[in-house]
Amino acid sequence: MSSQIPLSSPDVSAAECQRVLDVLSGPTLSLGPMLPAFETALAEAAGTRFAVAVNSGTSALHLCVKAAGLGEGDEVITSPFSFVASANCLLFEKVTPRFVDIDINTYNLDPALIGGQINASTRGILPVHVFGRPADMKSINAIADRRGFVVIEDSCEAIGATVDGRLVGGLGQSGCFAFYPNKQITTGEGGALVTNDAEVARLAKSWRNQGRGEGGAWLQHERLGYNYRLSDINCALGLGQLSRLESILGMRENVARLYSERLAEVPEVIVPAPAAADSTISWFVYVVRLQDEFSREDRDQVLKLLRQDGIGCNNYFAPIHLQDFYQSEFGYRRGDFPVTEHVADRTIALPFFNHLSADQVERVASSLARAISSITRRSVVVPEMAAAAGR
Ligand SMILES: *Cc1c(COP(=O)(O)O)cnc(C)c1O
Repeated sequence: MSSQIPLSSPDVSAAECQRVLDVLSGPTLSLGPMLPAFETALAEAAGTRFAVAVNSGTSALHLCVKAAGLGEGDEVITSPFSFVASANCLLFEKVTPRFVDIDINTYNLDPALIGGQINASTRGILPVHVFGRPADMKSINAIADRRGFVVIEDSCEAIGATVDGRLVGGLGQSGCFAFYPNKQITTGEGGALVTNDAEVARLAKSWRNQGRGEGGAWLQHERLGYNYRLSDINCALGLGQLSRLESILGMRENVARLYSERLAEVPEVIVPAPAAADSTISWFVYVVRLQDEFSREDRDQVLKLLRQDGIGCNNYFAPIHLQDFYQSEFGYRRGDFPVTEHVADRTIALPFFNHLSADQVERVASSLARAISSITRRSVVVPEMAAAAGR
């Protein structure tokens, strides 16, 4: 059997390993010099005044919600087509997520549907830049400005993406990044809140470190806080990765282009839409969608066949409103967000990482084409089989 091609693969250089070893052989493994150095570099990469590094993207989202002063009785408009953390961060603070369906081409929040979900409890909008493609921030910010809503960007998948030349993460009150190993840059585990608001940054720094005050007196806790700290070991890795951000995003864009060119020959597959004229994509994952005539079962069969060929792949995302605890807590049912469900039933995330080669892209694409044609053949056969079975 030929070798496996993983869904994602971290890219840590020898120089980055050395940075980590340097921290490990020094006296300060946490709250040392790497933390502010990483934050300064991050703020620059995000085009914001402040960055507050934390232990995950989820922690960053949580602090964004807290810093916005949102709480019980408040509603925030967000997308059901996302990683579960972008809605969970609202639940942490007893805020009610008010889902709005997505655009069928961009997979981002459809701004035209936002108005219909606004009510007297609405306080904010939390757009997600899905798969690294900026949400329609001009429309979202226009609605928010008119109504006095706070905007929190889940930019965890989109570091370096731009709208009108402005980097995502800095387009609302606060934004966040995540550095899990499948993200564009990694710190192993990690995340960051970014903002232009000094008060948001000050509060986030206190909350991540057990509510300590700015003086940092070790046993003086000014407010209820958390341990959301990111160690200097992680920050050292992140600094190295950030220094290569432009090159990493270039490699990923190149892989995405290779895929889209090759898959243009497979008409059953819908490749990611090109970036909108005013924006750029930061390629996080490469997700294709099967044409409308395919079912969820067809898609699952394609996933199975790809895996049999040694190709890492996944459905992406599972809609948040259909997760068990959202269904039981809020009474959501299949059918509530038809575009999200239609897309989620047909998506396939293909192997995607910095050093994916042209040969590997070819192997994935031909395996995908084979898997699809075996399904198309089967569905031609099925009516006869059904007739034979007397159904
Ligand atoms: C990765 C990600 C997060 C945060 O993930 P962590 O695993 O907590 O770092 C949040 N939202 C989205 C959309 C993500 O993709």
